[in-house]
Amino acid sequence: MRLSQFPITTSKETPADAEIISHQLMLRAGLIRRLSSGLFTWMPLGLRVLQRVQTIVREEMERAGAVELLMPSIQPAELWEESGRWSKMGPQMLKMRDRHDRDFCYGPTHEEVICHHVRQDLKSYKQLPVNYFQIQTKFRDEIRPRFGVMRSREFLMKDAYSFHIDQPSLEATYLAMREAYTRIFDRIGVDFRVVQADSGDIGGSRSEEFHVLANAGEDELAVARDGQFAANVEAAATLPPEAARPAPASAMQQVETPHCKTIEQVSNHLGLSPKQCVKTLLVMGRNDKPLALVIRGDHTLNEIKAAKHPLVRDPLTLIDESAARATVGAGFGSVGPVGLSLPVIVDHAAAALADFACGANADGMHLIHVNWGRDLPEPEVADLRTIRDGDPSPTGEGPVQLVRGIEVGHIFQLGRKYTEAMNVTVLDADGREVHPEMGCYGIGVSRIVAACIEQCADDKGIVWPASIAPFSVVIAPIGGKKSDRPIHRATELYEALLERGINVVLDDRNLRPGVMFADQELIGIPHRIVVGDRGLDRDVLEYKARDAADATEIANTIDAVLAAISD
Ligand code: ATP
Ligand code: MG
Repeated sequence: MRLSQFPITTSKETPADAEIISHQLMLRAGLIRRLSSGLFTWMPLGLRVLQRVQTIVREEMERAGAVELLMPSIQPAELWEESGRWSKMGPQMLKMRDRHDRDFCYGPTHEEVICHHVRQDLKSYKQLPVNYFQIQTKFRDEIRPRFGVMRSREFLMKDAYSFHIDQPSLEATYLAMREAYTRIFDRIGVDFRVVQADSGDIGGSRSEEFHVLANAGEDELAVARDGQFAANVEAAATLPPEAARPAPASAMQQVETPHCKTIEQVSNHLGLSPKQCVKTLLVMGRNDKPLALVIRGDHTLNEIKAAKHPLVRDPLTLIDESAARATVGAGFGSVGPVGLSLPVIVDHAAAALADFACGANADGMHLIHVNWGRDLPEPEVADLRTIRDGDPSPTGEGPVQLVRGIEVGHIFQLGRKYTEAMNVTVLDADGREVHPEMGCYGIGVSRIVAACIEQCADDKGIVWPASIAPFSVVIAPIGGKKSDRPIHRATELYEALLERGINVVLDDRNLRPGVMFADQELIGIPHRIVVGDRGLDRDVLEYKARDAADATEIANTIDAVLAAISD
């Protein structure tokens, strides 16, 4: 490719609406252009990167035995009604109606469509396992599209769906996908972690996410400092305190706590540590009646874990203050578990307290020296709180550290949820009709490009890993106004590299060296060869790696160029 024929539009200005480095650099380097909220065009330079990511993903999926197909992005509503997700997906799903008044959506994901196809084609367990994948455009009407292609409304996903006669077969393919994803992110060359995850709306049992570690990440991860454990904070379990609950020391007592609403105000007023207080939150139960969740004053409720409790409505629904007052006779801030005629579920850290303080269910009143089993029943205990930095890892591998990550992949064991809802059946070895087990596996192909830049950038611009750079090598002739020698030699070298299958670009724009180099550094080409008259006089070229501080001289031969760019 010659840059004289390949439009690149770079900019020195940092775009005002781009908060994070990848979004800024993708705009400045001209990789993407915004069309509308959450909608981006991949410009030629960006598309080359996106295509290289796709190639790696495709190769590794095929290596792991998955087979590519391509499903439509527009999907009929009837399929989503069968699975029950037409109403459940909510406003994230972009719905539309055709000229015959039939409802459709722009697919946010493809479980329904793939199930529709396999229920027609699959007859026997002998056709299993099978794993289909596609690389295809999705649309999700995100509430807050931001960070460019990191959280856009239209984006490119690799999604795969596997079907199995039994759970061990699903487990084997799940592990093969886990391995394939690991290879993909290793090949791309990003620093990533595989973390235990919540399955979210999609449902199913086991699920893990792949996260690129970066401060701009929207997710918080709990990672064992010296061990294997890693989980999305949303899903991270916490251990009960090791020490046994102390014996009660004093009799329960009601005290006035005027104007104290928060734990901080209450604990200050009472002269207690927040760790000796409990918070009581009123939420809706699955039976549409309120119930109380109790956690220690210094802890925060993990809404996702709480909503998994069999009594708690999913998604977690807090009741408002007037409903709270009607239920317990006090406003927020004075609610407590003593004497409540509601089910009470207590986090294990709060259950380990003795002589704690809590709301008295009367405005401006608290109770102190409250003890489980004496002043109120022994609690029903659950894991309700959010893990914190320094907490012991639930696998016993020492303390966890909280780090930020960008979710670039997510793998799920769905079980029979969709094959039952969509009535996918096969005949098993005994001739019985059974619903196959299903797995699904997603990779955010377009998000990977942005995530990679978050890790691979410096003050001059992007520093692409060789694996996905738009061009591997740029040949830059300089001093073209005075002499034709540099462009001639540069063209020879360019053609010689092309012949060897190297992803090379010739910067024949005839710009001033400073301008040319700044562009090449901003767009992050890993290797630069400068061809100038002065060097040619001494039969040398100048080589610089994008991530090196200085340039070096190399011999003016194709072999020397090949050696330099292969390091
Ligand atoms: P998130 O939690 O970031 O909203 P998700 O869990 O809803 O993502 P999945 O349904 O697991 O996403 O989709 C598979 C992959 O698609 C994700 O791991 C992510 O890399 C990518 N992805 C999801 N939503 C977006 C988006 N709005 N823009 C770009 N990529 C996305
Ligand atoms: Mg996900």
